[in-house]
Amino acid sequence: MKGSFRIGKIKGILIEVNASWFIIFALVTYSLAASYFPVYYPEFDSTTRWVSSSAIALLFFVSVLLHELSHSLVSIKLGMPVKRITLFIFGGVAQIEQEPDEPVKELKMAIAGPAMSIFLCVLFFLLSVALRSFGAPQAAVVSLQYLSTINLTLAIFNLFPAFPLDGGRVLRAIIWRFSGSLQKSTRIASAMGSIFGYFLIAFGIFMLLNNIIINGIWLVFIGWFINQMSRESYQSMLLSDIFDKIKVGEFMTGKVVTIDRSVSVQELVDNYFLKYKFAVFPVSQEGRIIGIVSAASVKQLDAAARPQTSVGSITTPLSDKLVVSPEDIVSEAMKRLSANGVGRVLVMDQENLLGIVSNTDILNYMWIRNQISK
Ligand SMILES: [Zn+2]
Repeated sequence: MKGSFRIGKIKGILIEVNASWFIIFALVTYSLAASYFPVYYPEFDSTTRWVSSSAIALLFFVSVLLHELSHSLVSIKLGMPVKRITLFIFGGVAQIEQEPDEPVKELKMAIAGPAMSIFLCVLFFLLSVALRSFGAPQAAVVSLQYLSTINLTLAIFNLFPAFPLDGGRVLRAIIWRFSGSLQKSTRIASAMGSIFGYFLIAFGIFMLLNNIIINGIWLVFIGWFINQMSRESYQSMLLSDIFDKIKVGEFMTGKVVTIDRSVSVQELVDNYFLKYKFAVFPVSQEGRIIGIVSAASVKQLDAAARPQTSVGSITTPLSDKLVVSPEDIVSEAMKRLSANGVGRVLVMDQENLLGIVSNTDILNYMWIRNQISK
């Protein structure tokens, strides 16, 4: 996620906080300190209110992190590696490297998060009872009770049968188990997600009309986000269902035109870009591929400097994001395509350039498939 920074690593999982998370931190702290506490506990002074509110916001963050960590550790245990957990404005997301291949795995993974939240709900409640019996300050007791409620809410909200929420994954696993079709179960669970999203938006608008502004706006946003996510995850499931089964070597376009690094940029424009109508060319040096040159990097160069500038000086060197092996699946090439921003990956077998896979190839392929299937 853009605008995220890492705060640590747990069991090999990178823990990241997105800048948008500070909005929710500020919002939670502010609404507690400025409206919740003054109404329900007017006896608290302002320092107590603000300290308790920020402590609750921080522990809320820890709770969300533990929820995601619980999903992740179960996932790793079942053989699906987890790269990172990102906390952002709408909660947390664990980036699991591959989707579960069996309904039982999906079920275990999905339940792990809400189970952690329920555990935390009970834990915070018991702590509040213990602190009260030891005569601890009321603010501490109240804050722990509040955290207990937050975790209960987190568990219940996530258990709605709306994909990609945890409850939606449970629903998908059950339908998948009985129908045997991942596609069908994802379609149903995503449709539920989409409906749930619309429901939250409608409810948010209802709250807004009744002057419950902050919660109303919040619900509209969350509803929109869930609606969006449910569509995207259905589409990405459809794509991976197709592109996990095809190897890059079978899919790529062969016969690639390359350009030598010593050629001038002027010639690159006249005899390559405008002639072949490709926006990117692999660059070679003594027959060996050293990188790519794109129309975008020519644009950054002053037009008058084109005749004296060599292609080599505006070449982007080869990197992992630019290269795939012919043995990789097309889904892997797609990941790199979206990561490199060039819209193309080179297919290379050691030092040899075998072909290219571009975004356009993938779109065309999907388009043709759609035409044929109707
Ligand atoms: Zn979850």
